Amino acid sequence: MKLELLCHSCKEKFKLKQKASSRQDLILKLGEYFVQRCKHCGSNSEYHVNDVKATTSGSLIGAVSGVLVMVGISVLFWENGYI
Ligand SMILES: [Zn+2]
Repeated sequence: MKLELLCHSCKEKFKLKQKASSRQDLILKLGEYFVQRCKHCGSNSEYHVNDVKATTSGSLIGAVSGVLVMVGISVLFWENGYI
């Protein structure tokens, strides 16, 4: 799970270095309010834990389903005698 913040200054999303499994975990590590530096514009802003958006990386699922689709198509072509 990746943690993202929306910069108050430039409205760009940037990732938090901090890893947390839950909101409670993040509060324990950073506190309810914390200052983060935006990677895009470099401005320090204070954020609330609720500002953090957790994004699950769909890359693995995407890769697996992509391979499955490829295999499925290959089998289909094989079955029909195109290969
Ligand atoms: Zn920014």
